[in-house]
Amino acid sequence: MLNLVLFGPPGAGKGTQSQKLIEKYQLVHLSTGDILRNEIANGTELGLEAKKLMDQGILVPDHVVIGMISNKLDSNKDAKGFIFDGFPRTVAQAEALDALLASKNTAISGMVALEVDDDELQKRLLLRGKDSGRPDDANPEIIRRRIDEYNSKTAPVASFYKEQGKYHSINGIGSIDAIFAEITKVIGNF
Ligand code: ADP
Repeated sequence: MLNLVLFGPPGAGKGTQSQKLIEKYQLVHLSTGDILRNEIANGTELGLEAKKLMDQGILVPDHVVIGMISNKLDSNKDAKGFIFDGFPRTVAQAEALDALLASKNTAISGMVALEVDDDELQKRLLLRGKDSGRPDDANPEIIRRRIDEYNSKTAPVASFYKEQGKYHSINGIGSIDAIFAEITKVIGNF
C-alpha cells in the first residue's frame, strides 16, 4: 500500500497536489477539512460543533478527527492506499494514525512536506477566499490564527515522522507541475 501524508501549512497547495496524486496513483483522498465541511453542509451535530472552531481558525478536538479517519479507513478496505491531507495535525493524531494503520497491518509510507513562507500563504489564502467563499479564508486575523495553530500544534508532527526516517521536504513555490514532479520523485524512492 502507498500511504502518503501530505503536509504543509494552510494554503501550501495540499489540495491541488492531492488531486493530481490521486489520479496518478489511484489513491483514496482523506481530507479532514473536506470531511468537516461536508458535515457542516449536512447540518450534522458534529458539523455544528466543528463550525464554531473552524470559523475561528482553531483546530477541532483530536478525538473527533481521529474517529472520522477511523471510519473512512473502515469504509475503504480495498483501497490501494491513502493520501492523508490535513491530517495528522497534532502529534496525538499522528500516534493514533500509526496505531490505526498497524491494526490493519499497514503503515505510513512517507510524509511529503510542502514548504511555503508565511507571506506567500497569507496572499494565497486571501485570494482563495474570494473564490471559495470559505469563512476561514476571508479574514486576515483568522488566517493568522490558522498559521499560528499550525506553527504551535502541527509543525511538531514533522519531527514525529523525521524520527521514523519518513520525512521529505519539497519547495511549495513554483509551478503546480514542477512541484508535482518533485513529489512523484520522492514517492518513487519510498
Ligand atoms: P487549511 O489546510 O487550508 O487550513 P483545511 O480544509 O485542511 O484547511 O482545514 C480547515 C479547518 O478544519 C482547520 O482550520 C481546522 O479548524 C479544521 N481541521 C481540519 N483538519 C483537522 C485536523 N486534522 N485536526 C483538527 N482540526 C482540523
